[in-house]
Amino acid sequence: MTIFAKIISGEIPCHRVYEDQHVLAFLDIGPVSDGHLLVIPKEARAQLDELSDESAAAIGRVLPRLARAVMKATGATSYNILQNNGAAAHQAVMHVHFHIIPRIGSAGLGVGWNAGRLDASRAGELVAKMQAAL
Ligand code: 5GP
Repeated sequence: MTIFAKIISGEIPCHRVYEDQHVLAFLDIGPVSDGHLLVIPKEARAQLDELSDESAAAIGRVLPRLARAVMKATGATSYNILQNNGAAAHQAVMHVHFHIIPRIGSAGLGVGWNAGRLDASRAGELVAKMQAAL
């Protein structure tokens, strides 16, 4: 059982901002910036790709509203949505979660962005494989 499952069940307390049938949002215990919010499905799945359509839709429905609330509460006008999947991608808690991280001055998410250049033949391969997988 993950720490987030214990938060959903009430076994561990949190600073809850929002809750509905499928979704819970609460303040991150180690905020990268003031107002750092976590949005999680109640469905216990480790990665986004494992999530049911129902949970995914429920999160998608409330994310913009929660982002607006974070902005209003903090005065931030910029923010990042971060969603890590897998330990190699910096996921520490193996229960799907979206971070809403406001940018407040120099506080906020630091992003390393190693941009390459899209190769046309590789692009064709990727599109074909992804479309076949959908
Ligand atoms: P990840 O690296 O998995 O994307 O992020 C996990 C996040 O969960 C971290 O930002 C961490 O601070 C937060 N977190 C871990 N344990 C707890 C907890 O018990 N309560 C709250 N509110 N946040 C937690």
